[in-house]
Amino acid sequence: MKIYLASGNEHKLRELRAALERASLPCEVLSANEIGGMPEVDETGDTFEANALLKAEVLRPQGAADAFYLADDSGIEIDHLEGRPGVRSARYAGEECDDEANNDRVLEEMAGVPDERRGCRFRCVLALVGEGLQETFSGACEGTLLHQRRGAGGFGYDPLFQPDESPRTFAEISPEEKAEVSHRARALALLVGFLEKKLA
Ligand code: IMP
Repeated sequence: MKIYLASGNEHKLRELRAALERASLPCEVLSANEIGGMPEVDETGDTFEANALLKAEVLRPQGAADAFYLADDSGIEIDHLEGRPGVRSARYAGEECDDEANNDRVLEEMAGVPDERRGCRFRCVLALVGEGLQETFSGACEGTLLHQRRGAGGFGYDPLFQPDESPRTFAEISPEEKAEVSHRARALALLVGFLEKKLA
């Protein structure tokens, strides 16, 4: 069985591929580049589920009918900001922004907010589609939004996010440690459980 990863984001691809390979499932994990690359997608959905399904379905016509297509949509939800940036996490500071600008905007909006009101979570929804199949798997990682960046690893909001499980930020822990607690790892565990049953 072939699973194509409907994403152009190298960080996410690495995490998704590593988790699927670790699970030793009888499936081949392939990149969207093998079938013409990931098309541009307007992420117009109001939920992570809707956007993940949109991305998986947009790649599907480019590949074989009997293959599966896996997409992810993720972001950070900050309680004090009523769940923002949420599905807008990638472009929170504007259409052409980068991670630095997004982190700056969040820090500005959270300036002066005390520690006890800095609760937040990363959320990830994976969508798996194929012939007769449309499933989503959701994972979350609870934590705190720091007052300033810490750490040089990772991507996105990692330097501002301290998971409940660790005194260090996602930008300070190793990819292996992140893979134990992250929102994506938790959604992946559900996906792997589903595939294990399906392919048994
Ligand atoms: P997506 O590509 O539309 O799913 O955008 C997800 C955005 O959420 C990314 O651009 C990051 O800003 C943020 N994000 C999602 N997962 C992570 C993570 O594991 N670490 C840091 N930021 C993340």
